[in-house]
Amino acid sequence: MTIEALYEIYLAHPSIQTDTRKLKQGDLFFALKGDQFNGNSFANAALETGAAFAIIDEPEYHTGNRTIVVSNVLETLQALALHHRRQFNIPFLAITGSNGKTTTKELIHTVLSRKFRTSTTEGNLNNHIGIPLTLLKIPAGTEMAVIEMGANHQHEIESYCLYTEPTHGLITNLGKAHLEGFGGVEGVRKGKGELFAYLRSHGGTTFVFGDDPWLPVMASGTETVLYGSETAEAATSLDFSVSGHVIQSEPFLEVAARGITSVHSIRTQLVGAYNLPNVLAAVAVGKFFGVPGIDIVAAIAGYKPENSRSQLVHWQNNQVILDAYNANPSSMRAAIENFAHLPGNNKVLLLGAMAELGEESLREHENIVSLIAGYPWKAVVLVGGDFGRIGHPFLQLSDSEAARDWLKTQQLSNSFLLVKGSRSMRMEKVLAE
Ligand code: ATP
Ligand code: MG
Repeated sequence: MTIEALYEIYLAHPSIQTDTRKLKQGDLFFALKGDQFNGNSFANAALETGAAFAIIDEPEYHTGNRTIVVSNVLETLQALALHHRRQFNIPFLAITGSNGKTTTKELIHTVLSRKFRTSTTEGNLNNHIGIPLTLLKIPAGTEMAVIEMGANHQHEIESYCLYTEPTHGLITNLGKAHLEGFGGVEGVRKGKGELFAYLRSHGGTTFVFGDDPWLPVMASGTETVLYGSETAEAATSLDFSVSGHVIQSEPFLEVAARGITSVHSIRTQLVGAYNLPNVLAAVAVGKFFGVPGIDIVAAIAGYKPENSRSQLVHWQNNQVILDAYNANPSSMRAAIENFAHLPGNNKVLLLGAMAELGEESLREHENIVSLIAGYPWKAVVLVGGDFGRIGHPFLQLSDSEAARDWLKTQQLSNSFLLVKGSRSMRMEKVLAE
């Protein structure tokens, strides 16, 4: 079947599902293969549950005229996504980077939504399956698309660009994330740089964080919009479109942003001075696309995270910075330093280990332990993974359930907690009743 023919079927059945447990009547079922499952073997069940068609790539699972056999289901999904994407002659802004992609994406989405019908990645659907599914959810009439791209090895972003065809791109930062797959920090630079390389060869526009020493260089040869701190602007003598600084972050971040009419102070509902570049990125994108300054400020001030990222929650008689969605050496450091500098003295750290660091892992965990040792805490609990394999003077527990049980015995009140760790550590569980 040609992509054009499949696209006709998609237009009649625009809801795509890859998981039979979530399937609804009339969905198109795409039989993807995972490490543990072969979607082909669920095709029949999908059709019985009410799928309009099942797209499979192992002919032995063919069960009648509602099965469509293709040579590779994943590639077909991506090709269909590209075909749909090409129906839109609008800006497609791709966002990648080591940290802060989702937060930046959400901020940009709320800012652009003040002026445009904007479609964006739901949650964190930022990989080779999530991106095509995101593209296929873009409704007719959309004026602006914002796509998050996550990657943990070389050539991944390059391949996403082939079916996303971004016109604009933003790399939040180049940090220590997924060092294992990328092959060190230099590999991260190369891998994330594939976005700017694509835009360079396609006449695209880049939004560039001017505080990073590499990003402006990596963006050369593209139309560039710079944003970043006032100190970086002064030090580089480059012309920033938007610059700013932290006014205060106790506990919520308040930012001064220069470049939209006059100096604007933006009171965010985000915890953490490390969100400054994320906020400035949203201001720069909004300004570039002509969103009025007053709307940019209101949109950012109105954004409240509810996704375990830079979130402040009240728990029993305590305050908690819930940042348990993820962790890597850069974001862990940023979160600990931010927390250490907040006022108050009853501070408790509940930190889960960092995953996917390869050879660097023990050293990076040791670095975090030395960082922690430099500040006074009421208590420090380190959970799981490579924290358990290095010698350290703090309480070491095996998993987040053990940490939850420990927390129960403490009967804390009027304390201030930071909860963070890699996704696999599920550190949010420490707050479970
Ligand atoms: P993922 O790779 O899981 O998709 P992400 O890049 O989308 O992550 P977010 O989910 O926005 O990032 O944020 C994850 C965490 O990274 C935050 O909770 C915070 O601790 C940290 N973080 C966010 N922005 C920055 C930044 N600009 N610099 C350093 N750390 C940051
Ligand atoms: Mg994300």
